[in-house]
Amino acid sequence: MTIIEPAWASEPDHKVLVARVRDAFVAKYGVEPDGVWSAPGRLNLLGEYIDFLGGSCMPMPLPYRTYVAGRLRRDGVLRAESVQMPGDERTVVIRDIHPGNLKGWFTYVAGVAWSLNQEAGDITLPAEFGADLMIDSNVPVGGGLSSSAAIECSTVLALMDLSVTLRQQVLDASSANGELRARLAQVCIRAENKVAGAHTGGLDQTASLRSAPGQALVVDFRDFSLQPVDVDLESAGLSFLVVNTNTPHELAGGEFAARRAVTECATQALGLAYLRDALPDDLRCAGLGEAEAKQWRLAAIDDLTNKAMVAMDSVTRCTEAPRGWVRHAFHDMCLVERAAYVISVADAQSPAAWSELGNLFTESFVSMRDELQVSRPEINTAVDACLDAGALGSRIVGGGFGGAVMALVETDSLYAVSQAVADAYAARGYASPEFLPMSPGFPAQRDH
Ligand code: ADP
Ligand code: MG
Repeated sequence: MTIIEPAWASEPDHKVLVARVRDAFVAKYGVEPDGVWSAPGRLNLLGEYIDFLGGSCMPMPLPYRTYVAGRLRRDGVLRAESVQMPGDERTVVIRDIHPGNLKGWFTYVAGVAWSLNQEAGDITLPAEFGADLMIDSNVPVGGGLSSSAAIECSTVLALMDLSVTLRQQVLDASSANGELRARLAQVCIRAENKVAGAHTGGLDQTASLRSAPGQALVVDFRDFSLQPVDVDLESAGLSFLVVNTNTPHELAGGEFAARRAVTECATQALGLAYLRDALPDDLRCAGLGEAEAKQWRLAAIDDLTNKAMVAMDSVTRCTEAPRGWVRHAFHDMCLVERAAYVISVADAQSPAAWSELGNLFTESFVSMRDELQVSRPEINTAVDACLDAGALGSRIVGGGFGGAVMALVETDSLYAVSQAVADAYAARGYASPEFLPMSPGFPAQRDH
């Protein structure tokens, strides 16, 4: 039998990547850029398809980022090229950008300029504002790790900073200015929804712009409030294994929107502002052991799903909604809030807490595979191989239909688990997956 070496990506080197996008800018435009900005992709620890329902999610910034080098123009024109889309230079007059009149990757960039101009006057772009941009990224594109938010959030900082010379007032878009960052996240969400046409919630943009270095965030999407959490895997001898399965998804496609529509129907049928409000306020099950918490959760989820399905039956456009799609939403809402509690009590001396965290990841995966139905064979193979090789838990990350898988593993067995995944892929004839080293990430910033 041939031995397949697991393909590990090299550790990202931020300084080298800042220089690389600058060099690409100079090679294309023949002048130095005025600045370089970057924003991370995110590893969502838990909580999929629930941000738009007011659930809480738990993202962490990745060390993988999208870099934008930019230079001010004064003719209202936005021009951009991406190293990931070679030869596909795009140009648009900013005031001509409208939802629906652009196509492809450039919608994620031009959409941000359009969306800034939907805001109140203090952050709209001055009429003569334009920019030349060069984009480069090491976030897997379409990999469930949010390359879309990384390109939007690096672009929004570039446009804000580049436009400062044309403004009366100085705008501080650094992470110290949480209020402005929260607004810019909304700008990027609107860009993705309206111009790129992907009906995602606000998880990715919030993580990219508003997370703290190396920490996870519990984001309550009823009000976008944040609670940073330390995930001290190191002292417990644990690590996250992140696998890019090289099966890109297409979120602007209909599958995501269909699930969103059904669960929003459930919200409406129950007469609520957010589906999260159907559940009790406190989902932590603090003080309960793993088995009791699970028993409580499953009973609450089934009860509420039944109620929602009955209520939906009397709303014409909600009939025949797949029950599992609704059930998943309640399920993941419970899992995230329990996980945030479990992490808060976990330390190096509490193997039971880490083991429960792993089980929560796997429980969420099973729901995404069987109830929400967003998995595919390559993903199932990676998750099963991780679990068979001793991972504490494993799940799909992002919207599904491909993308990334993550696992919680003992650091000592990181390589062995990656070997098991590589072997399982080779045995089935799937294209080799890529394993991503996980150093701590940090939020969007100006680099140069
Ligand atoms: P994900 O966010 O999980 O990576 P999405 O489908 O949400 O996947 O977003 C991927 C899309 O974002 C790509 O198809 C492309 O249009 C755009 N995109 C992301 N990164 C880049 C990049 N570096 N250059 C050009 N376009 C990009
Ligand atoms: Mg995305």
